[in-house]
Amino acid sequence: MSNKDPIVAIATAPGRGGIGVVRVSAPDLVAFIGRFFGRDLTARHAHYLPFSDANGQAIDEGIALFFKGPHSYTGEDVLELQGHGGPAVLKRIIDRCLEVAREMQMGLRHAEPGEFTQRAFLNNRLDLAQAEAVADLIDASSEAAARSAMESLSGAFSGLVNALADRVIHLRMLVEATLDFPEEEIEFLEKYQAREELQSIQDDLQHLIKQAKQGMILREGMHVVLAGQPNVGKSSLLNALAGDDVAIVTPIAGTTRDKVIQQIHIQGVPIHIVDTAGLRETDDTVESIGIARTWAEIEKANVIVHLQDARSPNDELDADITRRLPARTPVLKVFNKLDLLSEEEAAVLNRQLSETTEEAGHEATGILVSAKKETGLDALRQKLLDIAGWNPSAESPWLARERHLHALNSASEHLAMAEEHASYDDRVLDLFAEELRLAHDELCKITGQFSSDDLLGEIFSSFCIGK
Ligand code: GDP
Ligand code: ZN
Repeated sequence: MSNKDPIVAIATAPGRGGIGVVRVSAPDLVAFIGRFFGRDLTARHAHYLPFSDANGQAIDEGIALFFKGPHSYTGEDVLELQGHGGPAVLKRIIDRCLEVAREMQMGLRHAEPGEFTQRAFLNNRLDLAQAEAVADLIDASSEAAARSAMESLSGAFSGLVNALADRVIHLRMLVEATLDFPEEEIEFLEKYQAREELQSIQDDLQHLIKQAKQGMILREGMHVVLAGQPNVGKSSLLNALAGDDVAIVTPIAGTTRDKVIQQIHIQGVPIHIVDTAGLRETDDTVESIGIARTWAEIEKANVIVHLQDARSPNDELDADITRRLPARTPVLKVFNKLDLLSEEEAAVLNRQLSETTEEAGHEATGILVSAKKETGLDALRQKLLDIAGWNPSAESPWLARERHLHALNSASEHLAMAEEHASYDDRVLDLFAEELRLAHDELCKITGQFSSDDLLGEIFSSFCIGK
């Protein structure tokens, strides 16, 4: 399999739809088009044509669009056939493409997931961060995420990274030039205010890292597990939280009946909430399996909501549960059924909660809610966002991935090392230069100027086919 093979795929979502699109990309499609249609197509014109089989019988009728490379999505010649959006008819169109290509010995094959976008990257139509944004835009589950993905796609993130990389390059040029004249080494730092410039680059990089963290929260969201004794109101709370979001709630088919995952959005941040089997001592085999699974979910959570009955805030079993929760995971203590408390009782509990901030080694915060009356839910939502580190006042105009954050952090470490080398009395300029080079490499990894085949394979294989 090569990056030059002609490829074909259905570009629209599987299933039925008004229109379905078959896309072909190859270095040269002029002869193929002549054979497929018995005529030429004008580039960038919509042609309404029959798509015919080998006997000249119409398989479908639709619009053919020809994009002559490099002015196309992939940078190669691209042909788009817009037919009717049924799986059978689209398969026949693809089969006909393969048949025509076989007669011409073109070596046309089905595209791998993301292969069209991979070609766009390889042909410099997009950089790597932009190519990732294509997948993120398709996968975006909230409007905020979609808007941010589009920002990345249009190059906002890449632009900032490139601007920083350019400043590092400039500094590198000055150092490398100085290295050729060792007697000037000492003056170099002063002459070009290199240390000040380095500090300023580091400041801007820190700002970028902050934004990238926000972008990552928006992309990844967080996994929240609702845990607690039976009947404290876990399922009711999940429903109450999902209520506002009902139009975009996507129940993910649980593998077991004892686990329900729902995705909700709080200020556009995707939150995956797992409702679990109630935790208690039991002899029932089926129930104990459910409880074992609950503990497995708790181990994987980013945040644990430990739901309790507000009428028994000092319950022994809840104290047991608290002791068993993993120490590394933030725990939010939520007391439900507030509506069943008198005003006085509620005031007492509130006072008690503000006094206990730390318990069993966890940062435990107490919130009073009523799932039934839907009170206290906004405070709970805000608390979840706080724990995620979501800070809506910070600009977060683009989505970011773990990979981006890792590269930004490594670049920052190398800049810090460079600064250290510049601070010694016997300054070691070649070490300074080397750290700058490493910082520069990290920044270039984001946009894909230096990227291994492994990384590319990993990124593009997570795309859908036809993109
Ligand atoms: P789970 O077993 O923890 O999932 O608890 P459920 O959500 O199934 O609720 C158990 C019972 O508590 C149901 O009868 C709910 O109607 C009731 N319940 C849940 N939340 C509240 C609440 O805030 N106030 C009152 N009064 N009842 C509630
Ligand atoms: Zn339940």
